[in-house]
Amino acid sequence: MGTTEVINPATGRVLTTVPSLGVAETDAAIERAQRAFVEWRRVAPGDRARLLRQFAATVDEHLEELAALEVSNAGHTSGNARWEAGNVRDVLDYYAGAPERLSGRQIPVPGGLDVTFHEPLGVVGIIVPWNFPMPIAGWGFAPALAAGNTVVLKPAELTPLTAIRLGELALEAGLPADVFQVVPGKGSVVGQRFVTHPAVRKVCFTGSTDVGKAIMAGCADQVKRVTLELGGKSANIVFADADLEKAAAAAPSSVFDNAGQDCCARSRLLVEQSVFDKFLALLEPAVKAFRVSDPALDTAEMGPLISAGHRATVASYLDGADVAFTGSAPDGDGWWFPPTVLLARSTGDRHWREEVFGPVLSVLPFRDEEEAVRLANDTAYGLSGSLWTRDLGRALRVSRAVETGALSVNSHSSVRYWTPFGGMKQSGLGRELGPDALLSFTDVKNVFLADS
Ligand code: NDP
Repeated sequence: MGTTEVINPATGRVLTTVPSLGVAETDAAIERAQRAFVEWRRVAPGDRARLLRQFAATVDEHLEELAALEVSNAGHTSGNARWEAGNVRDVLDYYAGAPERLSGRQIPVPGGLDVTFHEPLGVVGIIVPWNFPMPIAGWGFAPALAAGNTVVLKPAELTPLTAIRLGELALEAGLPADVFQVVPGKGSVVGQRFVTHPAVRKVCFTGSTDVGKAIMAGCADQVKRVTLELGGKSANIVFADADLEKAAAAAPSSVFDNAGQDCCARSRLLVEQSVFDKFLALLEPAVKAFRVSDPALDTAEMGPLISAGHRATVASYLDGADVAFTGSAPDGDGWWFPPTVLLARSTGDRHWREEVFGPVLSVLPFRDEEEAVRLANDTAYGLSGSLWTRDLGRALRVSRAVETGALSVNSHSSVRYWTPFGGMKQSGLGRELGPDALLSFTDVKNVFLADS
């Protein structure tokens, strides 16, 4: 077993080191989870519910501690990190209601009784990225455990600290040993073993589209279930009749929140031609006022990027680009990058087409509703998006026409733990959160009992 250094992205300094598991240790964890599944699936629904509620309560007691870990390890602002820890608590509470409600159907058939059961799958492997370590972990493990599965969870190498702590808190809350294990290590080692080990019956992956495709291809070999939450290049469409002041005030956080390292980032801004200049004039002061600072400060709206390498990647999108205006960022240590607004010359611009995953907003005018929809859909992705208009009919028409898993009208809200979340096209497969996610951690069994 090796070790990995964990870096604070706001200072560039080493915070601590954590274990990095090899194949043998990963196999041992998977096999422990397989043995634990035998008992966990038989735990009475009410008892499983109580354990999940206790886990939620334990997370709540450690909310400030978890948030502080995320501020130092992922560079998240204190406000965001508190929300993220609270989200894990809420997701656990929500799915704690599931074990007693998860039921099949009785279907009328001649000659006996036909009933369906939602059976747990077995061991579920969850692979988490570095951008939202806590919520993305919780969106996987809470429904998986509620449905009676056991879980092995691999955090991103860059951000393992909150996941490791959540593993300890699960035990503190009374979850039986090996029902929920955190297995830190490299994606190419630990994550890959989730794909190839036959005891892992489902892989939940959030991360880049290329790795997601490779995981899906690897899982095909064993017809293993997969849920994929991949990249995005979401559109923020502003029509001339919208409340422009409100739309302009909301636009910066919709793309610069979490330093743009957000699969739901509205990184393509489409503005109706007739109000294009007016809208940019409203947007500029809002971007310049966006507070980028030490993420531990309560006033911070944005912290640093996750790593030096990622900052170099984000910076490469500015090569030869037409910069409209930028905000400011601290100098000195840490992987800082200012909020940046680019004018797209055409839809072929690299920054317009690719997921930058940084605080970079690309802007393009459109002529009419038809062109807005066409431009919004001119991408391989389809995860999220927003549109701003006061015309109810247009809001409905455009909502139906944009190919995306989540869309908000006159807001930038994407995620609520009781509603489904996931992507269309190359943004993913399957849904997280809400009732849909719970069922995705089960297989349906049909049983017929003859009456004679
Ligand atoms: P990756 O897709 O490489 O990593 C995401 C997770 O997958 C990490 O836990 C990683 O482990 C693991 N992983 C990597 N390779 C494999 C593999 N072969 N088998 C199994 N698991 C694997 O994303 P990056 O961190 O490299 O980020 C690159 C880009 O991906 C970003 O710039 C962004 O565009 C996009 N991205 C999108 C996210 C989203 O929310 N949709 C989240 C993160 C990234 P390890 O930490 O060891 O690399």
